[in-house]
Parts: sequence; C-alpha cells; structure tokens
Amino acid sequence: MVLDDLGSSLRGTLDKLRGKSRLSEEDIEEIVKEIQRSLLSADVDVSLVMELSDNIKERALEEEPPAGTPARDFVLRIVYEELVDLIGDSTELPLEEQTILLAGLQGSGKTTSAAKMAWWFSTKGLRPAVIQTDTFRPGAYDQAREMAERAEVDFYGNPDSEDPVEIARKGLEETSEADVHIVDTAGRHALEDDLIDEIEQIEGVVEPDTSLLVLDAAIGQGAKDQAQQFDESIGIDGVVITKLDGTAKGGGALTAVDQTDSSIAFLGTGEEVQDVERFEPDGFISRLLGMGDLSQLAERVERAMEQTEIEEEDWDPEDMLQGQFTLNDMQKQMEAMNNMGPLDQVMDMIPGLGGGIKDQLPDDAMDVTQDRMRAFTVIMDSMTEAEKEYPKAIGANQIKRIARGSGTSEEQVRELLQQYKMMERTIKQFQGMGSEQEMQRMMK
Ligand code: GDP
Repeated sequence: MVLDDLGSSLRGTLDKLRGKSRLSEEDIEEIVKEIQRSLLSADVDVSLVMELSDNIKERALEEEPPAGTPARDFVLRIVYEELVDLIGDSTELPLEEQTILLAGLQGSGKTTSAAKMAWWFSTKGLRPAVIQTDTFRPGAYDQAREMAERAEVDFYGNPDSEDPVEIARKGLEETSEADVHIVDTAGRHALEDDLIDEIEQIEGVVEPDTSLLVLDAAIGQGAKDQAQQFDESIGIDGVVITKLDGTAKGGGALTAVDQTDSSIAFLGTGEEVQDVERFEPDGFISRLLGMGDLSQLAERVERAMEQTEIEEEDWDPEDMLQGQFTLNDMQKQMEAMNNMGPLDQVMDMIPGLGGGIKDQLPDDAMDVTQDRMRAFTVIMDSMTEAEKEYPKAIGANQIKRIARGSGTSEEQVRELLQQYKMMERTIKQFQGMGSEQEMQRMMK
C-alpha cells in the first residue's frame, strides 16, 4: 500500500544522510521529491501531497536541529510528525455501549467490515450486534447473517422488508441486549441522491455515536468527492480501509481522512471476520519509516524469551554481538526466533534494519523452520563442545564422524555449517550498523 512504498523509498533517501550532521538544501529537496513521488504514484490527492511536502521542507530548512542530533534523525522526526499530523490518531472508539453507522459505496466492504468490527469488539469482552439495513443489494442479508454467525455476534435484518429506516429502528429494539450496535447500510455504484437521502434518514433514527466511511484501498482520486458528500450528509468520524491485503495503493483513503478531517479506525486485510486490525498510528508510522516499532518488538522478544527459557548465564546476546558467535548461540537464536515469528518480520521492527539489509540476505538465512531446527539439534548432539564453540575448525573427517554419529548425511552436516556461516555473516552485518547499541539494549 501507499505507506509501505513511501517507507521503502524514504529509507533509501534517508540512509544517504547517515553520518551527516547538517542538511544541505539539496538534501532536503531530494527527500521532499521522494515523498512527493511516492505519494503521487499512490494516488494521494495532489494538493494534499503539496501541502505535506511544503510543511516538511519549510520545517527542515527553518528549524535548527538540537546539538548533536544527526541530520537523518532530525528529518526523520519532522517527516514522522507531519505524517502523524496528517493521519492523526486512530478514531476514538471507547470500549463501552455505542452505536456505529457504516457508510460507503457498494462493494467497498461495508458488510464484511461490520462483521469484522463486531468480532473485534467481542474480543474486547463486549456484546456486539450487526444490523443489516441494505435492502438494495441482493444477497446482502444472507451475507451479513452468515458473517455475523461466523463472528458469533447478534444479528438483525429483514429480507422481506424494503424499508431500511424501519429495519434500523426495529433492529435496535430487537438487539437491545447487545452493547455495541453496528449498523450496515446500503451502497450504490455511485453517489446518488436517494442513497444520501436514505442514509440521512437512517442516521436520524439510529443516532450513531460514530459514523465510519468504508473505503476500498483501491480507490484513487474519487475518494475526495465521496468523502466530502458523506461528510456533509451524516458527518464522518473515521475511515475503515479495506482490502489492504491486495495490491492497492491506499492513497485515496489518506485523501478521505484529510478531506473529512477524520482519522483511520480499522484496516481490513482479508475476507475472513478475523482479518481486521485496529489502526495504530504510532507503531504503523514508526515501522514504515524504519524507526522500528520498539514497543511491539520488546513485547515479542520478551514473550519469546519466556518460551525459550534462555538462562542468562548460558547465553549472553552481547557476546554474540561482540563477535563470538558459536553454534550454541545459533541454536538458541533459532529457538528464540522461532518463538518470535518470521525473522523477516522481526527485522522490520528493528530500528535501522528495516529495508536494506534484509534484501541482501539469501532466502535461506530466514528459514528457521521447526523441521530444520530439529535436524540441526540432532546433528549438534553429535558434536563435541569444542566443535560447537569453534565450528570453523570442523574438517572433512569430523563431518563424516558427526554424520555417522547423528544418523544424518554429510550433506546435512554441511548444510548446518553453511547455515551457521550465513548467520554469522548476518550478525557481523548487525555489528557494523549504527544502531548496535539500540540492538544490544533490545536483545537484552
Ligand atoms: P459492501 O457492498 O460494501 O457491503 O461490500 P462487501 O462487504 O460485500 O465486500 C465486497 C467484496 O469485497 C466481498 O467479496 C468481500 O469478501 C470483499 N472484501 C471486503 N473486505 C475485504 C478485505 O479486507 N480483503 C479482501 N481481500 N476482500 C475483502
């Protein structure tokens, strides 16, 4: 999506600033151009792009970086703040009794999002109900009912009625035991007067606490008009961006957020009711800028450590970062990573590692599957402690002995040594990076 693209192109430009303490005007021009290029190609509204990039430029030129702040960090902070300003906080949705109205064109993903959001609220201990008022789209009732069933939430709809306003009224009565009411509405292919009339009437009956505009991530420049019209008729408090699992660029959604002066509430990432994420601007933007989502990473590392039960005296990550990477380290490392989730995702969360380094690694370096680990453990059991501490000294004869002892093939032993070499190289690369201190702090 748009922000991923911005993230990777920006990281490249920002990396060129590494080591610089002052920014030249050309540096700033280059960064601003990169931001413009990436946002425009993702269909973000032109005037919005200009506004954002002008702000960044102005601030980068005028503000004085605090003493000792590297140029890269300084710009990064400005870009971050401007993006936070544009995207804003996640739409406020208190975990309490409330009514939410969904608006959007047909096919934008309203019905799916209604069920997803209901599921999300149910995971927070609330009792949600979906009310389906779409009498326009054939099949909307059945689809909504089925999805509500899958989400295991209350549901009301009436396939025999042609009066959406009445369905909404009745729906609220019939589901009075629920505490969160999510009212799905009909869409049309385009904005038509009767669609606007209808949703205004439903809004009058439902009196929602929050009205959300559901937008397909693929929407481009059309987002602006749509957002404006819905905002004028019912007032839009937030946006749900759907189909982010596809190749869509998502730029239109940013425009809609800006146009309605609202924020992003949820992201839809698939067709199942569980494929939904509450939008978290901080982590999201930090991660895309390659600053690392520190809180999330710390949490994952902690969880992984608990599961792996790594004894402190057994394994000191600092040793590893100081270059004494042994096969024992590798084994523990693999166990920990296995518990943390895919290595490439973990790397995305480490400040400064985001893009670049990951792409330079062979695919195998990331492949820490259970099967491989099991095979490696068996092989390592047949090694002497000296061999594990200094694998480089393992020669052909020893490989033969280890293979025989572990009931594996020489090829498998070689594969393990190969993996070790690759990981050692990766660790060396970590060591060479500016963020070593940060890395050590986190690994601890
Ligand atoms: P509505 O007309 O606005 O109610 O739209 P629907 O909820 O019926 O969604 C239209 C189509 O988009 C359906 O085929 C959904 O399965 C699909 N869809 C909705 N949200 C997502 C999503 O986040 N990811 C994917 N891949 N498909 C989605």
